[in-house]
Amino acid sequence: MSIEKHGTDQQVVSDVENIMDHLGDSKLYVNSIHEDNDDLFFMIKEGITKYLIVVPAENNTAFNGEEVKAGDKLALKCPLDHSNAEALRDRFEFAKAVLIGKNDSYGFGDRLGNAGPAHLRSVKGTGFKPILAQQSIRELERTNRTADEVMDAASFSVFQEGYHDGFGADGDHLKTPADIDRMVKAGYTMFTIDPSAYVVNEVTDLTEEELHARVDDLPWDELKETKGELLNRILNSNVQLRTGYKIKPTEAELLQGMVKYGRVITHTKMMAEYISSTYPDHPSELELSVDETEEPTTLFEHFLVASELYRLGVELTSLAPRFCGDFEKGIDFKGDLDQFKSEYEQHLAIADMFGGYKLSIHSGSDKFTVYKVIGSLNLGAVHVKTAGTSYLEALRALSVCNPELFRKIMSFSIKRFNDDKKTYHISADLSKIEDPASVSDEKLPDYLDDNHARQVLHVAFGSVLSGSLPEAKDFKKELMTSLEENEELYEGFLLRHFEKHLSPFA
Ligand SMILES: [Zn+2]
Repeated sequence: MSIEKHGTDQQVVSDVENIMDHLGDSKLYVNSIHEDNDDLFFMIKEGITKYLIVVPAENNTAFNGEEVKAGDKLALKCPLDHSNAEALRDRFEFAKAVLIGKNDSYGFGDRLGNAGPAHLRSVKGTGFKPILAQQSIRELERTNRTADEVMDAASFSVFQEGYHDGFGADGDHLKTPADIDRMVKAGYTMFTIDPSAYVVNEVTDLTEEELHARVDDLPWDELKETKGELLNRILNSNVQLRTGYKIKPTEAELLQGMVKYGRVITHTKMMAEYISSTYPDHPSELELSVDETEEPTTLFEHFLVASELYRLGVELTSLAPRFCGDFEKGIDFKGDLDQFKSEYEQHLAIADMFGGYKLSIHSGSDKFTVYKVIGSLNLGAVHVKTAGTSYLEALRALSVCNPELFRKIMSFSIKRFNDDKKTYHISADLSKIEDPASVSDEKLPDYLDDNHARQVLHVAFGSVLSGSLPEAKDFKKELMTSLEENEELYEGFLLRHFEKHLSPFA
């Protein structure tokens, strides 16, 4: 199969323009023009709806669409639906998710499914690889989307942009084998295992006797060692990180670590083995996320989990510790940056001992000061996960192009706040937010620069987008329409915003 892009080839562009003369009034996405043997593919937008055009129709029966006579040719005008996304992935390898490996990567969660093209443009030339389809089970449920829809949006985005350098797809915060099944079926390649249900937080209250009893109770056959062997091995290991830091737990610390993380280790191993044994031919890379614990991950805890997984043959591509300080949703880091920097270096040194996996920054949106620190270290590879911040840029565009709808969504999000904030780490204070009814149109975009309002909007995304609440039932459709009508404005905001996310690493 030969894939050539002829965005600048005048002959092909004029062929495309000839076909477009028969399609009615529409906009061409020049980078989407692909020639494969004698077949021609490109994307257009008619009104607010995008289509994939396939020519000639008779050679391409895998695609479904309306037949349109275009001079002496018959073209297919295909909706951007799941079956056409599947046909596109069968035809063009670059429309499928690939493994990203231990390279710098950026997760561009896209809860609306329309930010991909701008994400790709912003990542070009930065050295980061894009993870385009990145969605947790929680987000899928809250937005009422499927894993397929998210993947299809990614495939159409790389096609529209003519992006052939490979993108990853991250099934985020997967808790059960059934979660893995959903993501494998939809073609995801990165699997973020979330063992938070197995973390035992209250270990410091346990007596020595209780600690021993809890450790005795661990599934030692899965840990492939006895308790005595493990204690002996780790207490006598005298590990020194390349930074000079010595891993020297007391027996009590080791027992606490095993109570807290013992089942995290065995659950992660089970999930990893489930993927490799159930889907031996499916490309997969693993992230382990322990970011949603109550306390920051200590260096010893990181060491313990990583060394045990390594010993048990589980290969990680990335690991997300819970770092020090506060990684609240939608706003910059709060905490001691010097402490973050020194701990980050130590965490990285641990990662290097066990395969050199990437450190992954969850709740990575808008952590500009943290990016700068990581960029300045210029050590190891990093993965940054963002999601809500693209939704907020969509709302910023809306505040400019459709003030009336923005005002409704802002008021609604304020009303939802006390319910919607429940599962999030945030500190917004409703009393600090002005009533949208009394704010002029010109001042509405200021909400997106206010940390309180940002978090209120951030946590309400599910209520706004899912369509399950009567008051909000038309919000998503109206929001999507406004964004399609103002595509360039929206993309401009996204590009400017991700420039701020990516340039501190340069
Ligand atoms: Zn996370």
